[in-house]
Amino acid sequence: MKVPYIMTPGPTQVRENVRLARALETTNPDLDIQFYDFYKETCERIGSFLNTKNEVRILSGEGILGLEAACASLTDKGDRVLVIDNGIFGEGFADFVTLYGGEPVFFKGDRQRKIDVEALEKFLEKDSNFKYATVVHCDTPSGVLNEVDKICPLLKDKGILTVVDSVAAMGGEEFRVDNWKIDIALGGSQKAVSAPPGLTFLSISDDAFVAMENRKAPIASFYCNLLVWKDYYDKKWFPYTQPASDIMGLRAAIDNILEEGKDNLLRRHEKIASAVRAAVEKAGLSLYIKEGYSNTVTVIEVPNGIDDKALIDYMLDNFGILIAGSFGYLNGKVIRIGHMGENARADKISYTLVSLQKSLDHFGVELERNMSQVFLEYSI
Ligand SMILES: *Cc1c(COP(=O)(O)O)cnc(C)c1O
Repeated sequence: MKVPYIMTPGPTQVRENVRLARALETTNPDLDIQFYDFYKETCERIGSFLNTKNEVRILSGEGILGLEAACASLTDKGDRVLVIDNGIFGEGFADFVTLYGGEPVFFKGDRQRKIDVEALEKFLEKDSNFKYATVVHCDTPSGVLNEVDKICPLLKDKGILTVVDSVAAMGGEEFRVDNWKIDIALGGSQKAVSAPPGLTFLSISDDAFVAMENRKAPIASFYCNLLVWKDYYDKKWFPYTQPASDIMGLRAAIDNILEEGKDNLLRRHEKIASAVRAAVEKAGLSLYIKEGYSNTVTVIEVPNGIDDKALIDYMLDNFGILIAGSFGYLNGKVIRIGHMGENARADKISYTLVSLQKSLDHFGVELERNMSQVFLEYSI
């Protein structure tokens, strides 16, 4: 297999020290006490990355497992759940709520703008009888970034627990779980954290654990049951054999982040993302989002008359660069460049923009400026 240069909004490129960490010899993670300490320390470092003192758990499954586990563990039959929706992942939470017997109630926002916090506040004045609410930080298919820092404290003041999917934002955007009063925050290994796909991790507040303990019916799942993990360390018991190599890779990726420094990481993303947006706009292309850009992904409207799949294939075949289209209501309408984690580097993005420009040129789209040049002026 010839691996392309992956410039997608996840999975992202994986640094060599993370790949090598996954190749180290492993112990028996169920029987060897050392592994419980390794797991616990890794969770604590993730807590530091997320700015939280809450308990953290790493589950064996890709990001979607985190979304489902949060909903499975909190939803009792008939619970009303507020689903904040201005994108595909936002809307998708309703399916998990329904699957576990809850009643999703939507608060819908403009799909090209961040959630209007004042409108949400007005909505909550009329109806705030919800057990919990779901919020997506960066809704990746469109690249919209929501103000979780304002939304979650507002919900919490009304006694509503908060579940935040920050899979595609954390690491590239500020994320302060404790300050922002987030009950369950979840992420994945394959986005800005820049480890391979396969793991999800969640921080769980005391209030969230209390809500799980006070349910009427038991949690209707084992793999998605967050409560079974509560005392794993005291009991030295995992619900299933841990994927030791995956966790060793994740630990190396988290250590890379802590070594770079969270603030440096955020600055790197901010600089790269704003330079990409400047390059795209000055070249005469259109950004899909009108308000609320995530610094982890740039979503560009496909120029009229161009087939997104042909363009993506041409870039792959001729330059070895893989970017992404999108799906759902955005299928065929946009292309996406992921600049999260290890992808958020000037050399990688500059080469991506050169290839995109040459590929557009091949299909007869002439841009007004040299994107790579504009990008470098802004990013270096
Ligand atoms: C990537 C992602 C997930 C995980 O799901 P995938 O199957 O990898 O798409 C969940 N939420 C968001 C917002 C994501 O970007």
